[in-house]
Amino acid sequence: MPRPLRVLHIASECAPFAKSGGLGDVTGALPKYQREAGVDARVVLPLYRGVDWAAQARLPFTLTVPMGGGAAFGAAREGRLPGSDAPVYFLEHHHYYDRDGIYGDARGDFGDNVARFTFLCRGAFALSRALGFVPDVVHAHDWQAALAPVFVDTTEWGTEIHGAATVLTIHNMGYQGQFHADALRSTGLGWEHYHAGELEHYGALNLLKGGILHATRVTTVSPTYAREIQTSEHGAGLDGVVRSRGRDVVGILNGIDAAVWDPSTDRHLAARYTADDMSGKLICKRALQREAGLPERDVPLFGLVTRLTDQKGIDVLTSVLPAMLDWEVQLIALGSGDPSIERGLAALARHRPDKMAAYLRFDDGLAHRIEAGSDFFVMPSRYEPCGMNQLYSLRYGTLPIVHATGGLADTVWPYDDRTGEGTGFAFRPLSPRALLDTLGHATWAYYERPDAVRAMRRRAMSQPFGWDRSAAQYRELYLDAVAARRGRGFDG
Ligand code: ADP
Repeated sequence: MPRPLRVLHIASECAPFAKSGGLGDVTGALPKYQREAGVDARVVLPLYRGVDWAAQARLPFTLTVPMGGGAAFGAAREGRLPGSDAPVYFLEHHHYYDRDGIYGDARGDFGDNVARFTFLCRGAFALSRALGFVPDVVHAHDWQAALAPVFVDTTEWGTEIHGAATVLTIHNMGYQGQFHADALRSTGLGWEHYHAGELEHYGALNLLKGGILHATRVTTVSPTYAREIQTSEHGAGLDGVVRSRGRDVVGILNGIDAAVWDPSTDRHLAARYTADDMSGKLICKRALQREAGLPERDVPLFGLVTRLTDQKGIDVLTSVLPAMLDWEVQLIALGSGDPSIERGLAALARHRPDKMAAYLRFDDGLAHRIEAGSDFFVMPSRYEPCGMNQLYSLRYGTLPIVHATGGLADTVWPYDDRTGEGTGFAFRPLSPRALLDTLGHATWAYYERPDAVRAMRRRAMSQPFGWDRSAAQYRELYLDAVAARRGRGFDG
């Protein structure tokens, strides 16, 4: 028997242990499906304060992690992804990780993030050695892990880790890990790496750039976004760098973790349902209206669950809400983030308490209840690398209303009045007019085309957006990357 391919995921988030957005969903799900497909995938994650430390087994060694200015010492714990045998290794370092927040706190980003995530990457390699787990592929996620491919090529020279192929997945081009040049010292890398062909970008240290240039393969989370990040509109200044990688850049869609997001088993819901028997969905809608203090009426209910950042286009939504809330509709919003966007949503909900409720917090259970109880789900994102919520909406028979960009364009099939086909509503460009028209179209369809809407819900629920398909695509990519790195194929 050939041995399985060994893959070490390095990430700053992994659900359910630490999550601020879609990145955590991916690293919390993909390894489970990879293991089912015969890949020995494991995850390395910081041991944040929010993780249940006591539930993770302490490993019997101390890690010596080279950092700029000397070594740091850490420990490691081992847990499992729930419902799976996928190991999750937690790097323990009290100074770096035992604090509130993943990336920052109320005062802003932590000032030592370069050191914190250098420790993650270099600590992951120290851990590999201690475990005797030599990866064939180091799979780094986002800027926090983007130095891993750089270290594999440089500081790991002469070690077994140096033979690993590296894959960098960009979950969001808007976050690149840009720092003052001085922060390079924390990484332990020399100044010879600080130039425009490596880690320097317009006078600053740019960790994502280093990862893009060093990784054997670069991926992002949808085919459309893979094309978009090569344009000046969506490349956030790195489009030329991505273009320079040519055919090494691939888009692979994220999937739905059926163990977490499945309306037929979801424990957060008042009732469960399937595409064949949707009666439970109405029970969920009534329960959600009750929970939100909205009249339990037969009107279209729009849901919104999102981080409140400029990316998500909520300003465009709030600009049309006064007009929309004059219609016979309801809206329930759940989100946290930018205080000015939070204030805007809260003010609208205060103004129309009979039509709208706003929850300004992170609440996983409520996110599930909104996905199930709503008729439509609104995502007017300026850009969206993949988007998880529209996938969950589809699976819950809640028709997404999306700006046709990135992964939203790849996954939502726009409704066609003539044929009744589609799984949701999509519009372009992102303007108040286009959004309001589309919200109006959905409202009209709810009242005037109930049969088509019912058929769309069933169709949406059976769309093939599971992780198994994406896991198979990653496996192909890994084999290709290993062959490129070693000059010969993976031979077990
Ligand atoms: P992003 O990664 O840009 O935040 P995605 O749509 O890819 O966007 O993933 C968002 C994930 O975070 C989803 O699982 C969504 O349910 C969750 N989420 C975002 N905001 C909240 C919130 N306020 N409460 C609960 N879950 C949230």
